[in-house]
Amino acid sequence: MPIDVQNIDWQNTNLQFSIGIHPLFIENADEQLKIVSQCLSHSQVKFIGEIGLDKRFENLNEQQNVFERQMQLAEDFKKPVIVHCVRAINEVLAIAKNFPSVKLIFHGFRGKPQLAKQILNAGYFLSFGEKSLLSADTISFVPQNKIFVETDESEISIEEIYRKIAEIKGISVHELCDAVKENIVKFA
Ligand SMILES: [Zn+2]
Repeated sequence: MPIDVQNIDWQNTNLQFSIGIHPLFIENADEQLKIVSQCLSHSQVKFIGEIGLDKRFENLNEQQNVFERQMQLAEDFKKPVIVHCVRAINEVLAIAKNFPSVKLIFHGFRGKPQLAKQILNAGYFLSFGEKSLLSADTISFVPQNKIFVETDESEISIEEIYRKIAEIKGISVHELCDAVKENIVKFA
């Protein structure tokens, strides 16, 4: 759920956060980047994200610049990154290559197995949500030790998404939960 970072009472919250400039909202990037880096000093901020590239919009050069600067923050602050990527896998991987210590999750993944393979070969993780369920061949293809499960903006519950992914992979929900838990430890 998106919230306004300026309203977080850092002294009194034990919530955990992911903070970043989404590629569709990169206006006033300099100012926003300052806020992001201030937030990153708080221990409750566990991830940077969603950040990335979205080719449905034409300002790709600016998006690449803002993504790159946030990857630098991820490296400096040693935070893993949640990636928003629409039709820009090669461009995202090209930038990420310059920051080899930074771990990435590609969220809401619904590409073909071939694209998933590119991401796995680069050593990154994939997260599946409601819309990913249409790509059953990709879900069966991706190994358990590379999977996360998310609701994002979906109407159905996280339990339902776990159930469906487990069913596609032919494993129990319990086994899937254990795998995701292990992945969180590896990732965070
Ligand atoms: Zn997204």
